[in-house]
Amino acid sequence: MDIEHLARGVLAGERRALARAITLIESGREDHRHSATDLMERLNAVGHGREALRIGLSGTPGVGKSTFIEAFGMMLTAAGRKVGVLAVDPSSARSGGSILGDKTRMERLSREKGAFIRPSPSQSHLGGVARRTREAIALLEAAGFDAVLVETVGVGQSETVVAEMTDLFALLLAPGGGDELQGVKRGIMEMADILLVNKADGELKAAATRTCSDYAGALRLLRKRPQDPEGFPKAMTVSAAEEAGLAQVWEEMTALAEWRRSEGHWAARRAGQARYWFEAEVREGLLARLRREPVKGAMARLAAEVEAGEVTAAVAAETLLREYLGA
Ligand code: GDP
Repeated sequence: MDIEHLARGVLAGERRALARAITLIESGREDHRHSATDLMERLNAVGHGREALRIGLSGTPGVGKSTFIEAFGMMLTAAGRKVGVLAVDPSSARSGGSILGDKTRMERLSREKGAFIRPSPSQSHLGGVARRTREAIALLEAAGFDAVLVETVGVGQSETVVAEMTDLFALLLAPGGGDELQGVKRGIMEMADILLVNKADGELKAAATRTCSDYAGALRLLRKRPQDPEGFPKAMTVSAAEEAGLAQVWEEMTALAEWRRSEGHWAARRAGQARYWFEAEVREGLLARLRREPVKGAMARLAAEVEAGEVTAAVAAETLLREYLGA
């Protein structure tokens, strides 16, 4: 495979090159993995200096994520912006299905020339999905995309993963009373920069407005974070179905991004994320080595000795690390 050629295609923003590159980074084959690493290094070395606004988006199933992303994406492409949509879906590993795998989702947006939609890769573990999503973001960025939306479902762990690879985090919520407020995990709410109460239309409009002010009240009680300007995190109402409030959402997002850039928070966050993923890759790599021979066999032997009481757990662990991992 001509990686140099592929890299040039990605940098030129060619869709086919981009699709092939993403297929390459998603592949589990050893030789593909080497080519993928080569590709990512080349793109990194070019120093293209392109940055997309990376937006994490979460919300429970049915809240309107795909409706929102499609409407939001259509608005951005209509304004001449290039939009990428990716997903981190922990359920796809288990079920084989995925939140973006359903072909009927975002049909309009998928036909847009300025849009690129990719479902969550089916990997056996969140670490694998995380790496591929990070690389896909980097590819879209190299291809000159203006915004990359990374969608995930509201189940906790995947939010942390997405927040560690995006510049800002939006949480989509449904109109509802106090129950709804309690249903949102505090940790996820604390991650959010923008809370979007969706379905603010028709009969649900009044409820959405009430819910929004409830959330705004709850947000005011959170400790102020250094990376937030006055008024953030923010709660807003939108209607993805009626495409209402979407321009304001984009305005707020870009204003927040601009502020963070000028205050140095943007660069600091990306640097911190790079460090986070480096450390995660080291941990992941160490664990992978434990699962390979001869370490795996040595571990089984030592475990048997520990079980038989011939050696203590601490000494056996120390032996394994020293003799097999050189640590
Ligand atoms: P997801 O599971 O979070 O991706 O949610 P979907 O986008 O598939 O939407 C779930 C349901 O909510 C669908 O029946 C949508 O038509 C509906 N829906 C989404 N957005 C809105 C909205 O803004 N207003 C109303 N009334 N319904 C909406």
